[in-house]
Amino acid sequence: MKTTMQIDRHVHAIKVPFRILMPHGFADRFVYVYLIYGTQGVCLIDTGVASAEQAIFDYLRSTGRKVSDISLIIQTHAHPDHIGASRTIKGETACAVAAHPAEKAWIENVQLQARERPVTDFDTLVAGSLAVNRLLEDGEVFDLGCGLKLKVLYTPGHSRGSLSILLLGYNVLFSGDAIPVPGELPIYEDVLASVASIKKLKAVQDIRFLLPSWDEPSRGAMAYERMDAGLEYLQRVHDAVRRCSQQSSDRDLQESSECVLKDLGFPPELANPLMARTCAAHLKVRNQKIII
Ligand SMILES: [Zn+2]
Repeated sequence: MKTTMQIDRHVHAIKVPFRILMPHGFADRFVYVYLIYGTQGVCLIDTGVASAEQAIFDYLRSTGRKVSDISLIIQTHAHPDHIGASRTIKGETACAVAAHPAEKAWIENVQLQARERPVTDFDTLVAGSLAVNRLLEDGEVFDLGCGLKLKVLYTPGHSRGSLSILLLGYNVLFSGDAIPVPGELPIYEDVLASVASIKKLKAVQDIRFLLPSWDEPSRGAMAYERMDAGLEYLQRVHDAVRRCSQQSSDRDLQESSECVLKDLGFPPELANPLMARTCAAHLKVRNQKIII
């Protein structure tokens, strides 16, 4: 897929590439930023990593819009690859920023986030802290004008305050990082919450486009298949964690992570503090055999 594309009448996608430092060298990753074009303004769903504003601004101009049209940033959650360019964009446009209350502290104080959830190259990925102007709760509906309405779906698990956003009438669903991607490192804080969130998204009927942040867009029936694949992956990780904990109950989280990664076919040296959190989340419910 190209790095930019128009998804639907009002929805555009920008694929933002970035690199993160891993034990074996740099890994190429990407994150999607989505733009919703209204007549009175443009709403961004996340902003990618620091310096992604250039691609966003260029795209706006190339499609006949102005940078100052950006009126709102909705943060699906506070992680570095979602809030990276937000401070810069807010500085240039004075747009409002909206997020779930549970993500507010980590957006408004990114150094606190860096301490509590260490990520390599955090300072390169994030331009800085910024104020959240509007707090979003489950079920809330946003009116973007010209008949565009966004419904907030609270979908925790990947993080405590993860949100998905449904563009009503057009049935476009922005899912942030709520749906884990088979073949990618499983990263979440609360596995049962993740399961419940994916089931909640599956219950949304007639999805035309599923637009996740860390996976490619998919349409129609494929969207539901992606969600099923995400659920199955959670179960597969759970099985691996249970197997590893049965082999030795006194492993520390680093050793557990390495064992789980090996079991799932990843190089064990990818074990990091985020993976340790995922393992801890599964270990909390290890007595439960089936989680999905
Ligand atoms: Zn995330």
